[in-house]
Amino acid sequence: MRLTLSEILAATGAVGDVGERGNPDIEAVRIDSRAVSPGSLFVCIPGERLDGHNFAVEAVSKGAAAVLADRPLAGLPEGTPVLLVRDTVAALGKLAKAWRERAQARLVAVSGSAGKTTVKELTAAILAKVGPTAKNFKNFNNKIGLPLSMLEAGETDRLWVMELGISAPGEMAPLAAIAEPDVAVIHNVGPAHLEALIDVAGVAAEKSRLFAALRPGGVALASMDYPELWAAAKAVRPDVRGMSVKGGSAPYRAKYLGALSEGRGRFFLRLDGLELEVVTPLTGGHFAENILAAAASARLLGATEEQIATGLESAVMPEQRFFCRRHGCYTLIDDTYNANPLSMRRAIATAAEAAQGKPLVLVLGEMREMGAQAEDEHHKLGEEAAASGAKAVFYHGGHAQAVGEGLARKGYAGLFAVVDTPEMFTQTVASAGLRGGVYLFKGSRSMRMEEYLAALTHSI
Ligand code: ATP
Ligand code: MG
Repeated sequence: MRLTLSEILAATGAVGDVGERGNPDIEAVRIDSRAVSPGSLFVCIPGERLDGHNFAVEAVSKGAAAVLADRPLAGLPEGTPVLLVRDTVAALGKLAKAWRERAQARLVAVSGSAGKTTVKELTAAILAKVGPTAKNFKNFNNKIGLPLSMLEAGETDRLWVMELGISAPGEMAPLAAIAEPDVAVIHNVGPAHLEALIDVAGVAAEKSRLFAALRPGGVALASMDYPELWAAAKAVRPDVRGMSVKGGSAPYRAKYLGALSEGRGRFFLRLDGLELEVVTPLTGGHFAENILAAAASARLLGATEEQIATGLESAVMPEQRFFCRRHGCYTLIDDTYNANPLSMRRAIATAAEAAQGKPLVLVLGEMREMGAQAEDEHHKLGEEAAASGAKAVFYHGGHAQAVGEGLARKGYAGLFAVVDTPEMFTQTVASAGLRGGVYLFKGSRSMRMEEYLAALTHSI
């Protein structure tokens, strides 16, 4: 970004003056004093553990040109411009909007229950073929991460792809208002963050509020394959355009055509009249909706057939998202980034498909934040694991008994082991004489299932 201090004052409605050093151009916004670069604006964010206001002095000593705070600060060098606002997080959002305005960027906003980061990366890979493109850094998708991501966009970046993440009612409207998308896409909904959002209809209703923030002339895209989503999207935007990976008459459609090689999949796409086949570094039918969402969004911002195909082909996927790799007679699937019931069900089904007669081993961790539905969702997980034909199921975390009951209900006759540590896991694999096959590793982030994958990799 690049805004003068006066522009920042105007955008945020802050009280203060630009200080004695004139009206400098600010080229970066930082909330972490360790990351401050000379000439940046340090925004003090009161966090749960630490308060950014306590780090302003350090930030200025590292070269921050000005400080945005919610209270006067002691100890700053004389003449340091301090901009005072009531709410620094809200001010960050206003600043991001001002930068968007100045950069005249067109923005795609992505928000599904599973795969936002994947869709963001795929969309950005296509749009990078169309023109200079910006995207969120990693998973920076909340009320702080989204504006910081927007402020990281460069002056020449005309196309911005931003993922928006929510976990409670009322969160989408302010987030969407920061993004004001030209294209807004929701590719799926599932039981995620149910502690606050209650059920899938609640998730769909909250997410669909994204569509209310579209700019004039903006386009809403939603999957028709999720009835709750389609109903909620229609209620907000009757002109929402439909996407489907199940056939039917949706204007935007996709179909998985199978793996081309390890880690590369072929997909058919139909984008409102344009038909094409693409190859991407993703395998598995459950990614069809991600690829469709990315291609449809990019198409709406002017991507050509060629740009869509080459963009998807060259996309680099974020780590720990269903990454398949051969290791001797093992196929190891690293889907350890996170899990909710939707992504879990899909990952198990896709791994079962990939196994094709080879032994399938599921190494699963608890799905967190399920609220009152936790027991029920873990029962279902056991049932799905049994239906996948897995030879062995390893489990780490809470609700292990529910998983065991779900397996038993479906007459599962394979090995079920609760493994509290990676060592217990590898020892059980060895003592059960399991060798080779397809291993799926997946669980919620805090279950750290990547440690189970690493332990197995070292032991085989
Ligand atoms: P977060 O809410 O943490 O930001 P996200 O929505 O950005 O997550 P990703 O990080 O892209 O999603 O992927 C999260 C998990 O969901 C990964 O394990 C990934 O493999 C899986 N996933 C991605 N797309 C889909 C999909 N369409 N269906 C089911 N699972 C998916
Ligand atoms: Mg994400």
